Amino acid sequence: SEAEPFPAGPAVRRPTRQVRIEWGGKSVAVGGDAPVMVQSMTNTDTADAIATAIQVKELALAGSEVVRITVNTAEAAREVPAIREQLDRMGVEAPLVGDFHYNGHKLLTQYPECAQALSKYRINPGNMGAGKKRDDNFAQMIEVACRHGKPVRIGVNWGSLDQDLLARMMDENGRRARPWDAQSVMRDALVVSAIDNARRAEELGLPGDRIILSCKVSNAQDLIAVYRDISRRCDYPLHLGLTEAGMGSKGIVASTAAMGILLQEGIGDTIRVSLTPEPNGDRAREVVVAQEILQSLGLRAFAPVVVACPGCGRTSSTVFQELAADIQSYLRAQMPVWRLKYPGAENLHVAVMGCVVNGPGESKFADIGISLPGTGEQPVAPVFIDGQRSVTLKGEHIAREFQALVEAYVEN
Ligand code: SF4
Repeated sequence: SEAEPFPAGPAVRRPTRQVRIEWGGKSVAVGGDAPVMVQSMTNTDTADAIATAIQVKELALAGSEVVRITVNTAEAAREVPAIREQLDRMGVEAPLVGDFHYNGHKLLTQYPECAQALSKYRINPGNMGAGKKRDDNFAQMIEVACRHGKPVRIGVNWGSLDQDLLARMMDENGRRARPWDAQSVMRDALVVSAIDNARRAEELGLPGDRIILSCKVSNAQDLIAVYRDISRRCDYPLHLGLTEAGMGSKGIVASTAAMGILLQEGIGDTIRVSLTPEPNGDRAREVVVAQEILQSLGLRAFAPVVVACPGCGRTSSTVFQELAADIQSYLRAQMPVWRLKYPGAENLHVAVMGCVVNGPGESKFADIGISLPGTGEQPVAPVFIDGQRSVTLKGEHIAREFQALVEAYVEN
């Protein structure tokens, strides 16, 4: 009998509550039927309001829909309203999230303007002290969130896991008939910590649709296991991210491998790619990588896709590599304007192929494609538009002429 075609596409998204992050009369949704949201974080000293506002703007322009800033000192907390004001003046469309550790309860209470200017608070229950002190500090932060009507992310982290909870769970594990390995207990403790603190926040009066959870670890397999587990145990929206993912290709590959699997299973409502910045590196790169993960999986479209072959011994000149790179950066640079002017431009598919072997075939699948001449081929480059062979380009200005054809295609 004939086999059924294997289904393509991600699994049905896991149902979650929807949380709205609001600022200046606008809002962005996380969870529910909202698309998986992209977020990032600054690495400036928040006490330097100008440098921070500039970096938030850079991240927002790259496509970060929410930007988190560190709020770690009184000086930083004092500057938060000024940062928000500057962003509003510059027309930056992104809510600010405050990242708090150790002293968040004090800063949010002592600086109500900061508490108000932020659109969401990130709380790490693992580093708020121990015992009653921890409970009181947590309650204080939740009370501020309730008073200002703000959502919170309860973000637990492998590196700062609640030690009281872990010790208790290790003891309980020792009494099991068949004890788990220590790593499994730690993963379980992360999930229990996130969910218990969310329930406690609800008991303290924070509505359930103002809570987002995250359980960050630095290893891909642990991340997959932890998020599969937490997604079965609650319906709070989940913030996905591999913490301390690393530098360069290692960080990108590890984040993509882990998050790709979870997103494919319908797990994750917002993502952040945490890349260690290279000296003088581009901070906005983490936003582009996050967008590309979502776009590669077909979950969202942010910028036109350029399909380009890897090139090989048949590639006759550098025109091919230059054209592929130029078109890719040109299209990405146009998107802030095109998104408003030409809705749907982000779904464009462009093919840039190095020779006749796969060039015409791949170009026909694209909205617009070009097959450059390989070694031994006629020095001509046929262009395909909507699957049909259109003009043929030749001479020194193939790249410029093809870019003009892409522009005309988008305009039309
Ligand atoms: Fe090589 Fe041509 Fe294939 Fe590109 S399309 S990889 S140039 S054979």
